[in-house]
Amino acid sequence: MTLTLKAHRDEIGLKDGQLLVAGTWRAAADGATWTHQHPATGEAIGEFPVATVSDVDAAVRAARTAFDEGPWPHARAGERIRLLHRYAESLRQHADELRALQALDNGIPLSFGGIYAPSVDCAADVFDHHAGWVDKVGGQTLPPYQGGDHLAMTFREPIGVVAAILPWNAPFLLFAQKVAPALAAGCTIVLKPSEYCTFSVLRQVELLLEAGLPDGVINVVTGPGDPTGEALITHPLVDKISFTGSRAVGKRIVEASAGTLKRVSLELGGKSPTLVFPDAPDVGLAAMTTMGTVTMGLSGQACVAHTRALVHRDVYDQFLGAAEMLAGMITYGDPFEASVLASPLINTRQLERVLGFIERAQEGGARLVTGGTRPDGDLAAGNFVRPTVFADVDNGMEIAREEVFGPVLAVVPFTDEDEAVRLANDTEYGLGAGVYTTDARRAFRLARRLRAGTIGINGFQIEPHLPFGGFKQSGLGREGGQSAFEAYTELKTVLMPLTDEMM
Ligand code: NAD
Repeated sequence: MTLTLKAHRDEIGLKDGQLLVAGTWRAAADGATWTHQHPATGEAIGEFPVATVSDVDAAVRAARTAFDEGPWPHARAGERIRLLHRYAESLRQHADELRALQALDNGIPLSFGGIYAPSVDCAADVFDHHAGWVDKVGGQTLPPYQGGDHLAMTFREPIGVVAAILPWNAPFLLFAQKVAPALAAGCTIVLKPSEYCTFSVLRQVELLLEAGLPDGVINVVTGPGDPTGEALITHPLVDKISFTGSRAVGKRIVEASAGTLKRVSLELGGKSPTLVFPDAPDVGLAAMTTMGTVTMGLSGQACVAHTRALVHRDVYDQFLGAAEMLAGMITYGDPFEASVLASPLINTRQLERVLGFIERAQEGGARLVTGGTRPDGDLAAGNFVRPTVFADVDNGMEIAREEVFGPVLAVVPFTDEDEAVRLANDTEYGLGAGVYTTDARRAFRLARRLRAGTIGINGFQIEPHLPFGGFKQSGLGREGGQSAFEAYTELKTVLMPLTDEMM
C-alpha cells in the first residue's frame, strides 16, 4: 500500500498557515499561497501565504515601529528574562506537538526526537541560556586616556530590526539560535521560515505570543526565496540579517546587504572531515557514529554531518565494514512510526541533485560500497535514497569537495598525520571536524591544526552555551554563547567631561 500521511495531518488538525504582521495573522496581499508537498509521500499537506514585496514591507515596518517606538528594546531586564524562561517552559510542554508538526513539515521521524541538538528540549535550553545574558552583558567604564577628567563609558544596545532567515532542516534549534539572542538583546524581528518547513515554525511563534511578547516584536513572512526572501534582504529598514542556509544564498545575502551595510551573520554549509587513526578508542564505533551523521534522522541533510571520512590505511577495511553495516540498519517510511530512523530528501530537486552526485562519483572512479539506489514499492513516491558509502575517494573528486546534503559518505585513505591534516584542511568549508584517537597529545595537536569552527575529539555535540559556526566559506560569526548575544548588539561609546577643562 502506498504510504500516506493524511490521517496524521487530520489527527493533528493542521491549519493552513498565515503571515504575522504587527500582531495580526493574515493572508498575503494578493492571496497567493504555497502548497506544501510532503517529502515522504508527495502529498499536498497544507498551504501558507507567499508574502509579496508589500507584505514584507508591512512586516519590516511593523518591526521598525516596535523597535523605534515600542516597549521591548527598553523593557527591564527582569521582564525579558521572565518572558524567555516562560517561553522555554512552554516549548517543553509542547514538545510532542512540535515534533509531530515537524514530521509533517520536513519528514524528520519522531524517533529522532531524542537526539539533543535538533530537539525541542535543546531549543528550550537555548532560550534559558540567552535569558542569562540579559542582565550580565553590559558595557565598561574606562579611564581617561588624556586631557581633563572625564567619564568614558560603553553601552551595549540592541542592533535594531533583525531579518532572521531559516533553512528547513532544524526548525527548533535554528529558530532558537536566532530568536533567543535577538529578543534577549532587545531587538525586533521579521522571521522567514523555509518554504519546506513552515508549520512547526508558525506554532513556535504562536507560543511566543502566548508567552506575552508584545505585538510587532516578532513578525513572520512565509514563502520562498523569491519573492519573499529577496524582499526581506534588500529592505532598507532591516539592520541585521541572520541567516542559516546554503553557501550560495549566503553569498547573495552579503551582496544584498551592501546597499545599506546591514550587519550579517551567516551559518552555511560544510564538508566536515572525520579523521580516524588506528589508535581510535573503537574504530567500529567511530565508523558507525560518522555514518550515523550522514544517515540517522536527517539523512545527511545536516550542516555538521561528517560526510568526509579520512581513515588510516591500517584500519580502512574495518571502518568500511562497520559503515556498511550501519547503512544496512537504516529504515525509512512513515515518520510517525517508531521504527523509522531516517527522513526522505526534502524535495525532488534535492533528490535529483543527490542522485547526480552519486552517478558522477561512480563515473569518476570512486568505489560504491553500498547504497546509491532508491527504495521502490510503497516508498516510491517519496524522495528516499539508500545510505551510500563511497570508498577509494580522492580528495580532489567532486564527492569529496561539494556539500551533497544527502546520505552519502566519502571515505578517503591516508598514511600519516601530516597527510590527514593536509586532506582535512583541503576544503573551501570549515564548519566542523572529528578526530578519533586515544593519543591525547595527537588529539590536541590536531585540534589546533584543523581549520574548522568545532572540533570533536572522539565525539561531537552542539550545546546552547558553546559558540558554533564556520571558518572559511562555512559562515560569518557564531551562534551560541556570549558572542552570539553580542552579535545582536551595537557597542556605543559615551563621553562626558567632569570639569570645565576640555577632554
Ligand atoms: P537554502 O539556502 O536553500 O534556504 C535557506 C533559506 O533561505 C530558506 O528560508 C529560503 O527560502 C531562503 N532563501 C533562498 N533564497 C533566498 C534569497 N535569494 N534571499 C533570501 N532568502 C532566500 O538552504 P536550505 O536548503 O533550506 O538548507 C540547507 C543548507 O543550510 C545547507 O547548505 C546546510 O549546510 C545549511 N545549514 C547550515 C547550518 C549551520 O548552522 N551552519 C545549519 C543548518 C543548515
